[in-house]
Amino acid sequence: MSYPIAQGGLAAVLAHPDDESFGCAGSLALARDRGVTTRLLVVTRGEAGTPDGTPDAGMGDQREAELIGAARAIGLDEVSLLDGYPDGGVADRPFDTLVDEIAAWLAERRPTAVITFGPHGVTGHPDHIVVGSATRWAVERLAESGLAPNAVYVISPIFDPGGGRFDLSPEEQSATHRIDITAVADRKLAALDSHASQTDTADEIAALRAAIESERPIYEGYHRVRPLVPPPHPTFDTKLL
Ligand SMILES: [Zn+2]
Repeated sequence: MSYPIAQGGLAAVLAHPDDESFGCAGSLALARDRGVTTRLLVVTRGEAGTPDGTPDAGMGDQREAELIGAARAIGLDEVSLLDGYPDGGVADRPFDTLVDEIAAWLAERRPTAVITFGPHGVTGHPDHIVVGSATRWAVERLAESGLAPNAVYVISPIFDPGGGRFDLSPEEQSATHRIDITAVADRKLAALDSHASQTDTADEIAALRAAIESERPIYEGYHRVRPLVPPPHPTFDTKLL
């Protein structure tokens, strides 16, 4: 589903179909509504998202279709998948090649801001951790040629209605940005629902649905890691770009 569109905007670089829906669907939807170009690069096709974790090509196809459904719900302008990175085995592939491929994707699109995973990858999944690290290396590589985005954010799940149960890195547990996504929470929910093959996330989806029904404010959190501003952060910033 790649097609030529304007450079700039907000991009997310993540590991699996559904990472975008949990991590940043609301922020992407809000940006899109403001006329900002929104993009997503996913490194694997999620073929290990089977009940027992055994990779299955059919599951990869299904999750790619679910990803496109989620992208429509969010309103993304572009979704890209890398080739050759197995779900659950991204760290087994050459790290430098992954950095190169992410850097090339970013250099072509020149996003103003990039969202990725922090050092514990929210859930501790090794694919999340290596993709977050490779993305930050890719940005540093681009900076050497003056092509770096203005800002890099890592996902901080501390405001998630169903969050608070992960072992997080210091960056991930101290958000600098808190984005009020209440107005687009139904689109985040629709994006999550489109990943129907993944049933182990029902609790988080139920928590979001309950928050929407009780009309509580709903937030996504991020820690800006580039440029880095030392703590303390007296107040949350409320916009990514
Ligand atoms: Zn994931």
